[in-house]
Amino acid sequence: MRRLAAVPVLALLAPALVALPAGPPAAAETGPPKVPTAVGTGGAVSSVDPEATRVGLAVLRAGGNAADAAVATAAALGVTEPYSAGIGGGGYFVHYDASTGRVATIDGRETAPMAIEPDAFVDPATGEPYRFTPELVTSGVSVGVPGTVATWQRALDRWGSRSLKQVLGRPAALARRGFVVDETFRQQTEDNRERFRAFTSTKALFLRGGRLPAVGSRFRNPALARTYDLLRDAGPRALYRGALGRDVVRTVRRPPTTGSTGLPVPPGSMTRRDLRDYRVRDGVATRTSYRGLDVHGMPPSSSGGSTVGEALEILERYDLAAMDDAQALHLYLEASARAFADRTAYVGDPAYVDVPLADLLSPTFAAERACTIDPTRAAEKPVEPGDVSSYDGECATSVGVEPVEVPDTENVETTHLAVVDRWGDVVSYTLTIEQTGGSGMVVPGRGFLLNNELTDFTTEYDAADPNRIQPGKRPRSSMSPTIVLRDGRPVLALGSPGGSTIITTVLQLLVERFDRGRSIAEAMAAPRAAQRNTATVTAEPAFIETYGPLLEAYGHELAPAGDAFTSAAEIGAAAAIEIGPGGLLTAVAEPTRRGGGSAGVVRPRESR
Ligand code: GLU
Repeated sequence: MRRLAAVPVLALLAPALVALPAGPPAAAETGPPKVPTAVGTGGAVSSVDPEATRVGLAVLRAGGNAADAAVATAAALGVTEPYSAGIGGGGYFVHYDASTGRVATIDGRETAPMAIEPDAFVDPATGEPYRFTPELVTSGVSVGVPGTVATWQRALDRWGSRSLKQVLGRPAALARRGFVVDETFRQQTEDNRERFRAFTSTKALFLRGGRLPAVGSRFRNPALARTYDLLRDAGPRALYRGALGRDVVRTVRRPPTTGSTGLPVPPGSMTRRDLRDYRVRDGVATRTSYRGLDVHGMPPSSSGGSTVGEALEILERYDLAAMDDAQALHLYLEASARAFADRTAYVGDPAYVDVPLADLLSPTFAAERACTIDPTRAAEKPVEPGDVSSYDGECATSVGVEPVEVPDTENVETTHLAVVDRWGDVVSYTLTIEQTGGSGMVVPGRGFLLNNELTDFTTEYDAADPNRIQPGKRPRSSMSPTIVLRDGRPVLALGSPGGSTIITTVLQLLVERFDRGRSIAEAMAAPRAAQRNTATVTAEPAFIETYGPLLEAYGHELAPAGDAFTSAAEIGAAAAIEIGPGGLLTAVAEPTRRGGGSAGVVRPRESR
C-alpha cells in the first residue's frame, strides 16, 4: 500500500540514527506451531497468532461460546500482537446468533475528543499542516478515545456466557508467561525503533536495554498482565472512569517523551470526560445478496459493509464464473474503483453525516454504476462518484463531480479473528490501534500502546467531506468483518487487516471463493490486488507475475504493494472459518503473509 504523504521516518531522524544492537543470543525457544488450515467440529478459531488461537480454543473447550472466545482471543492478541491491536484501540464486532438467526454488530470505534478543533492537524507554530509522518502518526493529537474494552463488555453482555473477569484470565496469564518472539515481531519493532525510542514508557517495554527483542527470546509483559487483572477486578470502569483512564489521558495530553529523538509529538486534548462519555454503538449488519448468499458486513462508521457490498452488487450483474481470469479480474478491479469513489463521496460517521447506505447498496444504483464499466477496457482513474440522489438503473450521464484520488493514509496493520462455537454462533471481529505500533506511546506502567486512529479522518479539513474531523466523531474505517449466510445459516466468516486494502481483500476472497471456484484455503493463498480508485492497481508481486500482462492488455497499470514505513509487499493478513455441509468447520489463516497465522478446531476431523 502507498502512504502517499509519507516521508521515511528514518530520513527525518538522522541525528538519532544510532545503530542499536539486536538482543544477545539467548537460549532460543520456539512458539507453538502455526496451522494455516484446520478442519473439524465442535468450534473453531482463526487468527494471526497461534497463542491467541489457542486461548480462544481453550475457552470453547471449557464450554464458552463464540462471544466469550472472541473476546479472549482478542485480549490474547493484545499480548502477542501489541503493535496491531489492544485495549488502547477500537474495532468492529459482528455476531451471528444461532438461536435467533440474527446478525448484529457492535461499533467500538475510537472517537475524537470533544475539544478537538477542525484545525487539530495544523501546527499552531507554523500554520502549516503537520506532516503525516512523523508528526501526526506519533502524537497525542491523533489518539482517539479507545473503544475496545467497552466492545468486549458489550459483546459479553449481549451474547456471552462468561464474565470479563473470566475471559481475561487466560490472556492475563499469557502476558505474564510471555510469548516467543518471532521474526515478524522483531521486524515490526525494528520498523518502529526510532519512534519507540521517543517515549520513556515505550522504550522501556519494547526496547529493553536499548535492544530489539531477539527472535527466540521470551517477551513478557507483566504490566499488561496487571492491567488485565485490574479490568478483571474493576471492569471497564477502570478505564472509562478510573485510574487507568487517568493514565491514558495524562499520556495523551503530556506524551512521555525522552527528548532524545527530536520528534515533535504534538499533544492531544482528550479528557476524562471524553472517556466517561464513550459508548459503543449497537447496530444492524449491512446485507447484500450475492450469488444466492447474504453477505453481512459492518455498517458506518466503517465503510467496510457498504463498499464491499456495493462492489458485490455491481459484480452480481456479471457471470464471473463463466469468464477467463483476465475478464473476471478486470471487472473485480473496475467494480472496486466505483465502490471506492462512492465511499469517498458519501461515507462518514452516521451520527454526523447522512450516509445514503440504502442507495449505496441498491441493485438499481449498482446497475447504473455498472454502466460506467467498459468490459474490455480499464477506465481512467480516479473515476467520479455516482449520484445517489437520482438514479433509475439506466446508464446516466456524468454527475459532474470532480473525481478525486484520495491519498491513502490508512496503515496496513490491525488484526482479524473469526470464531464459531458448538451451537453455531459466529463472530467476525476486526480490531486495531491503526498504525503498526499505533501512536507509539505506551501508557506508562500499563503495558499497552495507544492508537493513532484519528489519522483516519481526512487530514486536510474540507467542510463538505463526510470524513472531516469533528468533535466526538468516529473516523471512517475500512474494517470489514463479514459473515456470509445461505438460507439464513452461516457459511463463512472472514475479515482482514490492511487499511483500505481490507475492503479489497475481503471482496477478492469472496470472488475467489464464490465465483472463481477456489476452496477457502486456496482463496486465502491466492495473490492479491487492490484497486481503490487510484491511477495504478496495487498488487502483490505474485499477482503481477501471474496476471500483470493479462490485465495490462485491458489498460490496468499494476504497481507492487509496500510503503515507506514497512517493507512488506503483502496485502492483508486475513482469517476465515467456513461452515460446510453437516457443520464441518474449515478454519483458515494466512499460510505466509505476516509470518503466517494460525487456525484451530475443537475436534480435528482425524480424531473424530
Ligand atoms: N485504521 C484502519 C481502519 O480503521 C485500519 C488500520 C489497518 O488495517 O491498517 O480502517
